[in-house]
Amino acid sequence: MSEELFPRLEINIEKIFHNASTLVTRLGKKGISVTGIMKSTLGMPEIASEWLRAGVSGLGDSRIENIQTMKNADISAPMTLIRTPMMSQIRQTVRLSDISFNTEIGIIRKLSEEAKKVDCLHGVVLMVEFGDLREGIMPVDLEAMIHHTLKLKHITFMGIGTNLACRNGVAPDDRNMGELSHLADDMDSTFGSVMKVVSGGNSANLQWELDSTNHGRINNLRLGESMLLGCEPLHRSAIKGLYTNAFTLIAEIIELCEKPSEPWGNIAQSAFGLAGKSKAQGNIIQAILAIGRQDIDPEGLIPPRGIEILSASSDHLVIKVSEKHPSLKVGDHISFQLNYSALLRSMTSPFVDKVIKKKV
Ligand SMILES: *Cc1c(COP(=O)(O)O)cnc(C)c1O
Repeated sequence: MSEELFPRLEINIEKIFHNASTLVTRLGKKGISVTGIMKSTLGMPEIASEWLRAGVSGLGDSRIENIQTMKNADISAPMTLIRTPMMSQIRQTVRLSDISFNTEIGIIRKLSEEAKKVDCLHGVVLMVEFGDLREGIMPVDLEAMIHHTLKLKHITFMGIGTNLACRNGVAPDDRNMGELSHLADDMDSTFGSVMKVVSGGNSANLQWELDSTNHGRINNLRLGESMLLGCEPLHRSAIKGLYTNAFTLIAEIIELCEKPSEPWGNIAQSAFGLAGKSKAQGNIIQAILAIGRQDIDPEGLIPPRGIEILSASSDHLVIKVSEKHPSLKVGDHISFQLNYSALLRSMTSPFVDKVIKKKV
C-alpha cells in the first residue's frame, strides 16, 4: 500500500455520481438540462466523467485552464466557458470551448475574428442582469446586443442566461425568472426563434425550478455545488436524497497540549488582522493540525463531535479537544466535512492530497 499523505481530501466518486444522476433525472422530467460546473474541482477529470455518465448535457467552467485540464484528459463533451472571456484569452477560448457566456460586444467581436482564423463557429450565450449585480447585460440593452451578435459570421447565438445569488444573495423567484422567460419570448418574436438555450442559473435555482409549476422558457441549469455537496446554496440546507458527505478532509495533529484558553501579553493585530476574543474557560486541551488558511477556509470546516475550531493562521489550524476524545495524540488524524468555500480552497491547494474513493 502506498504511503498516505496528509492533509488529504477524500473524494467519494460514487456519491458524486449519485448526486448528479438524481438531479439530472429530477430536472430532466421538467425538460431542463444540466451543465456540470467543474470550477470548484479545478476540472478534475474523474469527476467530469462521472457527471457525463450521470447524464449532464455538457461541462462548464469559469476558467479556461480547467477546460484545458479536461481536454488534456480526453474528456469529450460540449465545453462552456461560464465567465466572460478575457480579452487576453480569446485564442484559447475559441480553441478550447464550444460556447462562452458573454456581456461585452467588444469581446464577442474578437471571438468572431478568432473563430474565423480557425474556420469554426463559436457559440455565445448572453448573460442578463436580474438584480444580483454581478455579470449581465441590462435587460433594456439586450435587444441591441443580440442584433449586433447575430451579424457576426463566426458566432452562433445560443440564447440567454442569468446568474443570481452569487454576489448579493438575490434569490430566484417567480418575478425574476418570469422576466427571464418573458425576455426570451420577446426576443424570439423580434428576431425569429433565436433562443436555443435559456439558462436559469446555478445551484441556487434548483429549489425554485423543482417546486415551480411553471418554469417558463428555462431549459438549462448550471450546477456545481448541489451535485458535489448535496446542498442548496440559498440556506445551505441538504437536498433530499443526495449525499452531503462526498468529500472528507483529513488533517494531522502536530501538537497537543493543555493550555490556557486566553492569550496573555499586550494584544495587537495577529497575522490576519484582529484576532477574535477567546472565551475565558480556564485550561483546555488545545491541538494544532498541520493545515491552514492556505488550504482551507476555517469557517467552512465542519468538525466531528467534541472538536471545536478555535482559529487558523496560514499553516496551523487550532482546535479544542473535549473529554470525548481522551486518547487523541500527536500523529492522529481528524476528519472534517467541508462547505463550498473550504472545498474550493482545498481543491486549489497543492499541499492537499486528493484521493478518489470508489465505494459508497
Ligand atoms: C459558479 C457558477 C455556477 C455554478 O454555481 P454552483 O452554485 O456551484 O452551482 C453557475 N453559473 C455561473 C455563471 C457560475 O459562475
